[in-house]
Amino acid sequence: MDKFLNLQKAKSARLVTAHQRHSKNPFWTHVSGSKLFCTPCNKVIDHLRKSSVDSHRKSADHRSKEDKMKEAQGSDGGEAVKKQRTLDSAMNKPSVSTQARNDICNELVSVFAAANIPLSKVDHPAVRDFLQTRVENGGAIPQAHQLQDCYLKGEFSNKKEQVF
Ligand SMILES: [Zn+2]
Repeated sequence: MDKFLNLQKAKSARLVTAHQRHSKNPFWTHVSGSKLFCTPCNKVIDHLRKSSVDSHRKSADHRSKEDKMKEAQGSDGGEAVKKQRTLDSAMNKPSVSTQARNDICNELVSVFAAANIPLSKVDHPAVRDFLQTRVENGGAIPQAHQLQDCYLKGEFSNKKEQVF
């Protein structure tokens, strides 16, 4: 019985990643998170076994969907195919607004540090009003304590790198 269990374990290549399997089949697969997706079928394929990837590709269902995808790409001049993603990768990708908020906060901390202005001045009602009415994305600037916690360390290490 033990021999049988060991054999079962040895059959699947545990070191093959979804990215490695995708590199062998770049035109009809994509990777999201640590999962290998079939792009035309929009479903997860077991990337650990080459045989399951090959047998999926040979299946009639996959072939018809792949043909439809190629037709759609050909008639629309290469329109982008919608690719399914894992929830993790969709949630962890920074949105445009997150990126904009990070940019304005990093710049503000950088300017205040250069001008030797304490970050606590951000909380002053006059400064807060100016930021919200006159500065693009100024409403996204958090309170001073959050600027210190989240953005000051990054600015400090940037300056430290420039000095050394
Ligand atoms: Zn498929």
